[in-house]
Amino acid sequence: MDEQQEHDDAVGTTDDGGFAALGLRPDLLAALEALGYEEPTPIQRETIPHLLAGKDLLGQAATGTGKTAAFALPALELVPGSRGDKPVALVLVPTRELAMQVSEAFFRYGKDMGAKCVPVYGGQPIYRQLQALDRGVNIVVGTPGRVIDHIGRGSLPLDAIRMLVLDEADEMLDMGFADDIESILEAIPHAHQTVLFSATMPPRINSIAKRYQTDPVKINVVRGDTKASAGKVRQMAYVVPRSHKPAALGRVLDIEAPGGALVFCRTRTEVDQLTETMNARGYRAEALHGGMDQAQRDRVMNRLRDGTAELLVATDVAARGLDVDTLTHVVNYDVPSAPESYVHRIGRVGRAGREGVAITLAEPREQRLLQNIERLTKQPIKIEKVPSVADLRAAQLEQTVNSIRESLGADDLEEYYPVLHALRGEADPRTIALAVVRLYHEAAGNTVDETEIPEYTARPERKFDRNDEKRVRDSGGAPSAGTAFLYVGLGRKAGIRPNDLVGSIANESGLTGREIGPIRITETYSVVGVPEGRVEHVIHAMKDVIIRGKNGSVRRYVDNGPQSGEKRAYEKKSYGDKKPYGDKKPYGKKTY
Ligand code: AMP
Repeated sequence: MDEQQEHDDAVGTTDDGGFAALGLRPDLLAALEALGYEEPTPIQRETIPHLLAGKDLLGQAATGTGKTAAFALPALELVPGSRGDKPVALVLVPTRELAMQVSEAFFRYGKDMGAKCVPVYGGQPIYRQLQALDRGVNIVVGTPGRVIDHIGRGSLPLDAIRMLVLDEADEMLDMGFADDIESILEAIPHAHQTVLFSATMPPRINSIAKRYQTDPVKINVVRGDTKASAGKVRQMAYVVPRSHKPAALGRVLDIEAPGGALVFCRTRTEVDQLTETMNARGYRAEALHGGMDQAQRDRVMNRLRDGTAELLVATDVAARGLDVDTLTHVVNYDVPSAPESYVHRIGRVGRAGREGVAITLAEPREQRLLQNIERLTKQPIKIEKVPSVADLRAAQLEQTVNSIRESLGADDLEEYYPVLHALRGEADPRTIALAVVRLYHEAAGNTVDETEIPEYTARPERKFDRNDEKRVRDSGGAPSAGTAFLYVGLGRKAGIRPNDLVGSIANESGLTGREIGPIRITETYSVVGVPEGRVEHVIHAMKDVIIRGKNGSVRRYVDNGPQSGEKRAYEKKSYGDKKPYGDKKPYGKKTY
């Protein structure tokens, strides 16, 4: 693929029919249309035709690239005409959260065709899953330990499986699922497709690929070789969970006070929702739709130029060809699925030597995508703290100071003397001045949304060949020097298993599975190792998190030394009789 083609693919400027050209069934196309997906992401474009052709595939891609749909859509194509109600596709994922997320994606894409998908993960009562599997199912998404469990019980028949997907394979290995994965691979002896996605490609993944895949197509959406320039643009990112994004966007815009901002969303549905939300929050936002004719587009653009609108919300497709020189800010409401489209988007500002600002809102799990972009542009994206309520107040007061300072130089001040005269004797000049400032400040529209936006700090810099690092849990030795311990006020009595802890901490804090551990679970509480530099962040992120239906307090754990009674109890009782749903290896070891 030449460079121009690659760029075109990434930003979708080639008019190739979008999803329809990939050969998907009409009911899947209709589902994607309804979800507002306008065109495939690069990984979908590259992967789907091969999977539809029955090939094995080895893909290097991170979360946020659209990889779920890349395997889910071809898997759904296998459902119609399958024999009976036995599963035709099995997807293995590292965590309960991902199992639910992936199975929701299957549900959204496949509901018109009546596809049935069941997630199976440790931590949920097995009989509920047994019932669901028994009712008939087309696709199973599960964590390896629980999948093995079901295979052993005969509740998950494998004889109709035509596609096996290993999603986030490196994370699964990091969590000690290697043996379980191999047993599952061995348990499907007949011919089937094996699809493997991983953010990194350590040697162990390659060796699994060698042994269990036949002539796999190799796809890598992390390309670092395309020349690109982000020009004279100040680039920054904020790490915020999805639910806080509208508040965070508002806060950032209030501080940045853009002359005009173009906000990019992934889907048309998101464009409409965000436009509505921002209008409800008092911003003048307009949606730009791909389907608008030129006159309508011009009207919207004029409203941006003359300041009637401050925000233009659009998808990549809708913003094609858009050229507004009053734009000062580009906002990526999500990290774009391809680094090339980031470059293309932010090229809308900073033109002709003017300064531009590019703001990206990333979810904790999407930080890796930011690194891909930095590698492509060879420019840093600074991770900033979302301004707090106090920061915003301070910025607004400074604005008021500036306005009043300007007003001090006005030559018609005397005209207002009668007001001051009338108030004479009622209050001292200081009180009068403060009252006037207050009036002005409020009249200038300085309101503050008081929502607390949780603070996520940047993930520590990590080398890309992260597998070189020796893993605490792999080595089975002492925790590394940089490990701090969290106390989580839930233990075995609350049904807590290691995966519950790893899954919830990874999801809430953005740490990867491999950064979490060692883990020890006692009757009433658990202790989890996390990187020292991240401990406060994790405590904050875990504040209101419910694990297995319960909210346990999370704080820094202070150990009483190696022979504390708790630790001995752990060593004696912990996993003696019961296997903690499959992820037995690393956790079963007495890691410290
Ligand atoms: P994933 O990398 O699979 O976790 O997907 C990241 C996000 O992108 C999810 O919220 C998907 O719903 C969304 N998404 C996936 N494919 C597309 C597409 N072609 N157009 C717009 N959004 C998409």
